Amino acid sequence: MENKFDLGIIGGGPAGYTAAFQARDKGLSVVLFEKDKVGGVCLNKGCIPTKAILHCAELYEELKNSSELGINCDNVSVDYGQVIARKDTIVEKLRKSLELSLKNSGVKVVNAQAEIVEKNRVIANGDIYEFDNVIAATGSSPKDFDNIKFDHKFILNSDDILNLKTLPKNIVIIGSGAIGIEWARIFSSFGVDVSIVELANHLLPLADFEVSKRVERIFKAKKIKMFLSTSVEKIEDKKVYLSSGEVIETEVVLLAVGRRPDNSFDNALCIGDACGKIQLAHFAIKQAVSEVAGIEFNENYVPSVVYGNPEIAWIGKREQDLEPDTFQKSTLLISALGKSHCDNCTDGFIKILVQNNKIVGAHVVSKEASSIVQELTIAMQNNIAIDDLKKICFAHPTYSEGIFECLLRLK
Ligand SMILES: Cc1cc2nc3c(=O)[nH]c(=O)nc-3n(C[C@H](O)[C@H](O)[C@H](O)COP(=O)(O)OP(=O)(O)OC[C@H]3O[C@@H](n4cnc5c(N)ncnc54)[C@H](O)[C@@H]3O)c2cc1C
Repeated sequence: MENKFDLGIIGGGPAGYTAAFQARDKGLSVVLFEKDKVGGVCLNKGCIPTKAILHCAELYEELKNSSELGINCDNVSVDYGQVIARKDTIVEKLRKSLELSLKNSGVKVVNAQAEIVEKNRVIANGDIYEFDNVIAATGSSPKDFDNIKFDHKFILNSDDILNLKTLPKNIVIIGSGAIGIEWARIFSSFGVDVSIVELANHLLPLADFEVSKRVERIFKAKKIKMFLSTSVEKIEDKKVYLSSGEVIETEVVLLAVGRRPDNSFDNALCIGDACGKIQLAHFAIKQAVSEVAGIEFNENYVPSVVYGNPEIAWIGKREQDLEPDTFQKSTLLISALGKSHCDNCTDGFIKILVQNNKIVGAHVVSKEASSIVQELTIAMQNNIAIDDLKKICFAHPTYSEGIFECLLRLK
């Protein structure tokens, strides 16, 4: 049969394209079905475009406040259209590069919606394909509520918000997970009046409680309004009605309350966001590598990063997950590090939680928190004892040496 291949992959996001590359490396024939754009949410609507915009927001804020560093920039202004155009250029460039890599590695890409008609048989564009195995890497979509639906004009999701042509004067963000927090930081840095509504009693409810509290402090200093332990009852006539009785009038609403797995196929191996476990690109990639190349990984050691200034990152257990008196804790304020003063980024801390001479959790708010947590992830993944970590030489001046300082404080 002409359309017979070793592996069929539905969805061309990080999970799908990684599985495709890994399978080609093993010499398998591979078809990758993508109904929209290869790169998936991560490249086209998620990780990459948000960080491209965030970079501009941070640069703008830095330039506006640079005179205390002896750098005078008069009349700094934002051309938001250009910010969005740059974001589009970056995404397109990376997508073209991915398309080329897929082509060069011999993956057959079919740009069409695919359905599994029966086990290992897929239909796309009216053609039937037969495979030895099929992987569903179909991703996820933004969630809304029964009483609050996206209208894509006033009540926006994380896709819509990427394409605003101008900055709003004000915004209400519902939900303070990674997406809500990152957009609150972006808009606030651009000078937009931001209100954030969160049902839990802390921002970033999945984080360690001390991280949440620190983020709240940072948001307060930035004059981001926070409505905690609060739900939205209704939205009408550009007004957001809160459970507290308060009403916020706003130009636009971002509803960022999580993502729903898109998986309607129960007769295929499901990986990435679609499997409904951890909805992060690096988790999707590691799952793909694990399933196709057999390189296992520990799902308990998946770092989380929330971007912005300062970064927020963590791995492993939170303090509130541990029984009192069963662990040691070492915390270092970032202001104790010389580098943080040089960079004018003294806000934050590194917190390490230890049981039986091993790190079980690490929580960082700092410039370069993503890299600090990555170093700790390596230690945890390899089960390295605190006594051995103490032997490592950390470069000076860096943020990483904060890890060393934390380790030295452990008795
Ligand atoms: C605003 C935002 C910011 C984010 N930032 C980060 C971040 O900084 N770091 C991080 O790790 N994660 C981030 N994420 C999450 C990350 O984007 C996802 O975890 C990642 O994209 C999941 O990869 P995936 O391959 O499982 O799914 P996706 O990337 O969603 O890809 C699934 C693909 O499948 C296609 N598809 C679905 N059904 C079919 C079908 N029937 N036929 C053909 N094609 C189909 C879709 O069109 C899509 O392209 C962010 C997400 C958002 C929304």
